Amino acid sequence: ACHLVWFRNDLRVTDNKALTFACEDPTATVIGVYIATPEQWATHNVSPRQIAFLHQNLVELQHALAKRGIPLICHTTATFADSVKWLLDFAQQQNATGLYFNHQYELNERLRDEQLRQQAQHLNIFTYDDALLLPPGSVTTQKGDMYQVYTPFRRAFLSQLLMSDFRSFPAPKPRGAALTVENTPPLFAHQSVEISPQFIAGEQAALAKLRQFCSKRVQDYQRDRDIPAIDGTSQLSPYLALGVLSPRQCVNRLLAENPQVFDSQESGGFSWLNELIWREFYSHLLVAFPRLCRHQPFIEWTQYIQWTPDETGFTAWKNGQTGYPIVDAAMRQLNQTGWMHNRLRMIVASFLVKDLLVDWRRGEHYFMNQLIDGTLAANNGGWQWSASTGVDASPWFRIFNPTTQGKKFDPQGTFIREWLPELRDVPEKFIHEPHTWAESHQITLNYPTPIVDHKQARLMTLEAFEAGKRAV
Ligand code: FAD
Repeated sequence: ACHLVWFRNDLRVTDNKALTFACEDPTATVIGVYIATPEQWATHNVSPRQIAFLHQNLVELQHALAKRGIPLICHTTATFADSVKWLLDFAQQQNATGLYFNHQYELNERLRDEQLRQQAQHLNIFTYDDALLLPPGSVTTQKGDMYQVYTPFRRAFLSQLLMSDFRSFPAPKPRGAALTVENTPPLFAHQSVEISPQFIAGEQAALAKLRQFCSKRVQDYQRDRDIPAIDGTSQLSPYLALGVLSPRQCVNRLLAENPQVFDSQESGGFSWLNELIWREFYSHLLVAFPRLCRHQPFIEWTQYIQWTPDETGFTAWKNGQTGYPIVDAAMRQLNQTGWMHNRLRMIVASFLVKDLLVDWRRGEHYFMNQLIDGTLAANNGGWQWSASTGVDASPWFRIFNPTTQGKKFDPQGTFIREWLPELRDVPEKFIHEPHTWAESHQITLNYPTPIVDHKQARLMTLEAFEAGKRAV
């Protein structure tokens, strides 16, 4: 027998269901396959940074498989449709008897897999729910519908999770002698982009980061998670996005270090688990409401909001030149590292939509193009939450004041100074409104004055949302 394992968003050997089951028969030949689809990725706005990180992780995966006697064949096609064709040809060439893979839940990915099933006549296909703790469609209201409010979803999710078997699977045993890997040229052509040193590729690095976080920082997570100047969060999102790490591994590690985690909602561990459940919530929503994969808002009347056609605000926002220090520092963090702290993602998204009245989809698009951890579910979910167009979103009339947010979450301006060297000498008291200080001391700052007046912008936005609501 010859079993092919098609790796997609699950670049790991430990706790990988498709790989585990493909290896169950000790006599089968197992071959790993990865298909890069650069044109398809471009239409999904996958960032060059994430692609470069993916490549690094694929190299690590290739080595981890080789140690176990499993080759990884990497091929490049333009689109998903081409990948299906190539894969079926390859399976035939290899006389493959089984094809194993884990589900992806985005719309185009699901259509691709459907196409594969229709075209694969003599190939046995074995697929698994592996990317989430509980598969989409399995956590529903009594009527069988997807929840549209997070808290009852979480309640149902937790009781179901506790009844489920979420043990992690060990990596498969070696199936013969280790293979040697020669790694030139690259596995697939891609732009070389520097990856910031906090993100070391490979599942060993991811597991080490997870262990470290769960053994210590998670205790203070509830207290520290909103302060961008503190490394209070796990920074595991780039690994979870590519499946270098699984959510089961996260929960099992969390439980190993904090056995009481399910008992106290006040604990740091529980609030971290809560974020992992948000991740599940947004993925379940994609499947229940495919329009979310089609650039449509969840709340229908919000499509009548008249967004601004003006480009200047959007450009200033992208470049971290809005004159609001917390917004600009955050955007520079994103542009330089591809990662941004969650509190800051909420602040900059709110600013773009509700201070500049720019269509949230443009922000979503820009984020995707920059993020190392970009995923359709969480990015779309986060943007629609911030823009008040989404499921259980922030109410539309709640508008963050960017200055107050800065004062609250970066009180000493530590984070701002790290990313805006031009404000390093501004005294702490004025760090969130540097121009009031500069003017009174007749100092010229190499930093823009605020591009909008928040009070006025707020009124304009309230009006635009009200008009959108009336237009239905
Ligand atoms: P931790 O606080 O350590 O959380 C652990 C894990 O839980 C994260 O790695 C992530 O996988 C998941 N998670 C945490 N918060 C959320 C959330 N609100 N929604 C969904 N999953 C969550 N997250 C992404 O993974 N990819 C994105 O493209 C993305 N885009 C976002 C866009 C906006 C506008 C907003 C407001 C949020 C977005 N998030 C996204 C969610 C969140 O900001 C990041 O997951 C988090 O900052 C990652 O850092 P961390 O790994 O240290 O998180």
